[in-house]
Amino acid sequence: MIDAHIHLYQYTDIEKRIQHWQKEGIECVVAVSNNLKSAYETLELKQRYPDFIMAGVGYHPEQKPMNRRDMTELEELIYSEKEAVSFIGEVGLPYYILDQLTADEQGLQLEQFARWVEVAKQTQLPLAVHAVHSQAEQALTLLKKVPEVQAHFHWLKAPEQVIKEIVAAGHFISVTPEICYRERDQKLAEMVPITQLLIETDGPWPFNGPFENEETSPLLLKPIAEKIADVKQIPLSNVIQQTITNTNSIYNLKQKQKRKS
Ligand SMILES: [Zn+2]
Repeated sequence: MIDAHIHLYQYTDIEKRIQHWQKEGIECVVAVSNNLKSAYETLELKQRYPDFIMAGVGYHPEQKPMNRRDMTELEELIYSEKEAVSFIGEVGLPYYILDQLTADEQGLQLEQFARWVEVAKQTQLPLAVHAVHSQAEQALTLLKKVPEVQAHFHWLKAPEQVIKEIVAAGHFISVTPEICYRERDQKLAEMVPITQLLIETDGPWPFNGPFENEETSPLLLKPIAEKIADVKQIPLSNVIQQTITNTNSIYNLKQKQKRKS
């Protein structure tokens, strides 16, 4: 299985953990970054575990907008580390901190997301997008203007109509361990075709329900896949195989290049 969204730089004892995860059948993780510091840390991890990690460079939208210097440096990093960078992310639009942002800051966030979409187009890299609830539609509107760019809406929460439009636009959508105990996420999995569904943990983000007090790691992918199989009434092996195929199809550059040649 592949974890389609994890903050790998936030884990300690990484060598021991990766060994354990691999033994439990995790073949790869899509490692996002939140800012400049974690982008460097994620790229360093990519160097140490090149086959286990697909590395992303980005800036998490649920914080104050980037200053110009950081934006430039992140962009330069994407170009200079082209071999190591598999995608841009996570990036997107703020929702949870909207009331802490001035109108100017909100405008700047939107501008910066538009810039990421442009960089994604120029570099032909996919986007790992955080844009939930009312912001999902706004992110989609922006993406519609640049149809060449493929996006992954991670841990999506959005109105039904917007979910349908994201699917129709050909983007990918992921579910987290929340699907195991939350109806909203089960409905989402029902709506998204299996060919556009990814599984992720957003680790080490902590979850509730059956996972309360449990460390979030890619080991939670199995219960997610089991729940999808249950919700969609398809065999578990299909869910596992198809989500691997989907994740590779959007994130795995090497496979993409192989297909092109
Ligand atoms: Zn995340």
